[in-house]
Parts: sequence; C-alpha cells; structure tokens
Amino acid sequence: MPNPKSRHCKARRDKRRANWKIQLTSVSICPECQEPKLPHRVCMSCGTYNGKKILEVVEKESV
Ligand SMILES: [Zn+2]
Repeated sequence: MPNPKSRHCKARRDKRRANWKIQLTSVSICPECQEPKLPHRVCMSCGTYNGKKILEVVEKESV
C-alpha cells in the first residue's frame, strides 16, 4: 500500500484549510432581482431558479 513518508507540518495543514474557507463564500447575482444568492440554488429573495418561479416568497409572517 502506498503511504506518505512523513506527515505534513501544522503550517501546511492550516494553509490548506484557510483557502478552503475562502472558496466557501462565493456568491452569484440573481438574474431576476439582482440580489446576491448562492450558486445553483433557488434565489431566497424572489424564489426563482433558471427563470422559473419555484417558491412563493413570504415577506413577513403576521401573527
Ligand atoms: Zn432573485
């Protein structure tokens, strides 16, 4: 079985995890309402995906 000869130092491990955190925060702009949204997900402010209405957006729940 191939095995690593020596373990990576803590600095190298932490540098890799720092880059992973930066990539997580990527956002795209909704083509319908120009609000920031997560890529490949339904827009949370207008409820559309790929130009189609998917969700009914509730502005405020009145109790
Ligand atoms: Zn939208």
